[in-house]
Amino acid sequence: MDEVKVFCPATIANVSCGFDVLGVALDSVGDEMVVRKIPKKGVFITKIEGQNLPLEAEKNVAGVAGFALLEKADYKGGFEIEINKKIKPGSGIGSSAASSTGAVWAMNHLLGNPFSKTDLVTFAMEGERLASDVAHADNVAPALFGNFTLVRSYTPLDIVPIKAPEELFATVIHPQIEIKTSDSRRILKTTLTMQTAIKQWGNLGGLIAGLLQNDYELIGRSLEDHIVEPIRSILIPGFDRVKKASLDAGALGAGISGSGPSIFALSRGRQNAEKVARAMKKVYETIGVEHDVHVSKINHEGVRII
Ligand code: ADP
Repeated sequence: MDEVKVFCPATIANVSCGFDVLGVALDSVGDEMVVRKIPKKGVFITKIEGQNLPLEAEKNVAGVAGFALLEKADYKGGFEIEINKKIKPGSGIGSSAASSTGAVWAMNHLLGNPFSKTDLVTFAMEGERLASDVAHADNVAPALFGNFTLVRSYTPLDIVPIKAPEELFATVIHPQIEIKTSDSRRILKTTLTMQTAIKQWGNLGGLIAGLLQNDYELIGRSLEDHIVEPIRSILIPGFDRVKKASLDAGALGAGISGSGPSIFALSRGRQNAEKVARAMKKVYETIGVEHDVHVSKINHEGVRII
């Protein structure tokens, strides 16, 4: 086989209480990519549809992640990549991670899977380094594994996949404003009080236990962020109103998706997630903020062949 077409899921990083360590993959929002083996050494991006992004492989996260893989692969040829970009860059739902992860997963598949999933995360993280100067794994890992993933440690890289309950759905609303990941990182404090840390790790433990025990109430109670949300939410128009509207409409919990500006909510069942979407939308219609909304089941398999 010389060519493969893949779906690369969008992802919600942080999920309120897991800044830089937790992420979850979406099932119905994502990019599509075609990756092809070619005799010429190198990575070549031949087509990008949907968004205006660089075709030069060194400036595109898919190319950079691909180079990282190629450097370690026992393979004399190269790859061509076509990207059908459905996730808007800078939306906070892992646009760059989808491209990096899709590229390296497809290349590994075409080479007969010489690399482990952890190796692939390491390659895809090089794409994240290009996009945001930080090689974080909280979008890449769920895009690759599906479900929720916990980055238990970065050095050494230790990723723990956590299966999502079957009835868990996400609603994501994307206000059409741009927040640079670097800006949204710069405003964060670099120290914590012990009291804040205790609340945060209580919630992170609670969320993981809730996911493993299919305890939707516990999941909801644990979707609290005492560290990042109080600071970052200031950059997102109508954040408090959108969050309150989603909770009033029955969401289990809500927060900032990745570094924003998207806001996510988790709900039990599709109907509830759609009700939450309508409630969030209504707030933005009232205050006049352009937006997109997605409702999606949690993705259980990560990147897949289509
Ligand atoms: P998100 O917050 O949705 O994950 P990021 O801020 O991580 O988005 O990444 C977007 C940045 O990465 C933009 O500066 C974009 O130009 C750059 N980029 C380069 N290649 C790609 C690609 N293939 N897909 C998405 N973004 C890319």
